[in-house]
Amino acid sequence: MKRDGTNKSFWQDVDIENFSTDPAILDFHTIVVGAGITGVTLAKELQNRGIKCLLLDKENPGFGTTGGTTAHINNFYDASYNEIIENFGKDPNQLLLNATLEVLDYIKDNISKYSIQCAYSTCDFFLFSAESGQNEQLEQIYAAHQQLGLPTHYVETIPFDIPFEKAICIEGQAQFHPMRYIAGMIEAYRREGGEILTGRGIETYSNEDGRVKLKLSGKEVYTAKNIIWATHVPPGKNRFNFLLAPYRSYVLTLKLHGEPEALGQAADLYDPYHYFRYHRSDKEHYLIVGGFDHKTGDDQQTEQHFADLKLWVDQHFDYDELTASWSSQYYDSADGLPFIGSMPNENNVYIATGYGGNGMTFGSMASLVIPDLLEGKENPLAELLSPSRIKPVASAQQVLSEGVNAAKHFIMDKFSAESLKEVESLQPAEGKIVHYRERKLAICRDMEGELHAVNSVCPHMGCTVSWNPSEMSWDCPCHGSRFGMNGKLLNGPASVDLGRVNFD
Ligand SMILES: Cc1cc2nc3c(=O)[nH]c(=O)nc-3n(C[C@H](O)[C@H](O)[C@H](O)COP(=O)(O)OP(=O)(O)OC[C@H]3O[C@@H](n4cnc5c(N)ncnc54)[C@H](O)[C@@H]3O)c2cc1C
Repeated sequence: MKRDGTNKSFWQDVDIENFSTDPAILDFHTIVVGAGITGVTLAKELQNRGIKCLLLDKENPGFGTTGGTTAHINNFYDASYNEIIENFGKDPNQLLLNATLEVLDYIKDNISKYSIQCAYSTCDFFLFSAESGQNEQLEQIYAAHQQLGLPTHYVETIPFDIPFEKAICIEGQAQFHPMRYIAGMIEAYRREGGEILTGRGIETYSNEDGRVKLKLSGKEVYTAKNIIWATHVPPGKNRFNFLLAPYRSYVLTLKLHGEPEALGQAADLYDPYHYFRYHRSDKEHYLIVGGFDHKTGDDQQTEQHFADLKLWVDQHFDYDELTASWSSQYYDSADGLPFIGSMPNENNVYIATGYGGNGMTFGSMASLVIPDLLEGKENPLAELLSPSRIKPVASAQQVLSEGVNAAKHFIMDKFSAESLKEVESLQPAEGKIVHYRERKLAICRDMEGELHAVNSVCPHMGCTVSWNPSEMSWDCPCHGSRFGMNGKLLNGPASVDLGRVNFD
């Protein structure tokens, strides 16, 4: 399977099919766009409720972040419960926790109902302060868990050989092989007559008089009453361009000498934090470690992040060999909770996005919310996660800082062009923005030595893209759109490629 990055993730061993046969019917109740964990789970859930849907992806299933995740299935979030209590109050928080526990059971039930072999296991999570300055934060998190009744206790030891000040054990976590999980869900969906079409981009999209119309590359036009964008930022210019911020995180997988005493997951409290977990795959045991996150496009020394992560791993863990290293992109929401539900001002368009590093749980939670909304049922989570919510206190500061960041790129981009002579000195896997006849071009050299020149202006909202040397892609620092070396669109919200440029 392919992924939206050059580095191969640990999960890409799955031989996932491309589904290129056009469905015999053209009209559906609902079209789900995006075959990551969100879209695949939604398609299966809708099918279970007797709703005829079409699942679409412009690439293969798992091409996006689901193919580059670390697949912890957690009952707590990057925005800790004490922060969520502060922003949203205790009752909504209790509601969220109850829904979260329901989601964990839902994933487990899917695995057992559809007999999915996906290395699913349960374990505890150990959150620790690595230095005394982090103790207070840990205590606040512990207190919020006590308040909500999430089983959490202080421990003297953790199942990783890493020094810490204080540690808490948060019970009831799970983990799996995400690609095997979604492959199994797709298999079950298809077995029961579900329609899926992959490898076909959307050429035109319209939504008039309550009818959604999609023209795909090729000739087909599919229609539906509803559309669900399970593609992170919904396409086009909308408020989510300002309420979501793209981040990149780095991951290594290390084969271990033997079997750890117990499976477990852990993280410290640095910002960005280091996160790690054991993984049992068939008979082998691995350590999956992530960290060194940064806002997309803000740091072009992406190779350095791998080196820093590797150094940190070498300082703290014993292992046999490094088996995979990759990076991937997630989206933080302005107030820490995802946006799951109806697109503001549109009653037949739904979105599910802004999961931060918790998309296994939140991506699955979308299936506990959106199908109810489609069926006109009340859903207790709908208000809390509503994409229309306005939480000025919670989000203002964050929105402002993300907005300032985007603005910084708009302004700095005008002054940061390199001169054309630098093109010649570009090394394989290097890319630069250069001036060429009054224009700024994005130019890179591939591993075969060939130069590729594309327009440097992201077609979404006009920011200048940045080179990501480790994944060999052009990433937009403003809203997270990403493009291959030849300008091909990898991730939205942009909906078209960066135009290619000829030098003649
Ligand atoms: C390094 C890293 C580690 C993480 N670890 C964890 C973790 O341990 N636990 C956890 O819960 N979460 C984790 N996350 C977050 C989680 O992986 C994601 O939130 C989740 O995978 C998102 O799933 P998704 O289905 O919404 O999106 P994706 O998996 O990105 O799927 C979106 C799909 O939409 C398709 N698409 C996009 N635009 C279009 C279009 N216009 N037309 C057709 N198709 C389109 C893409 O091809 C893609 O296949 C991590 C994220 C990162 C980056």
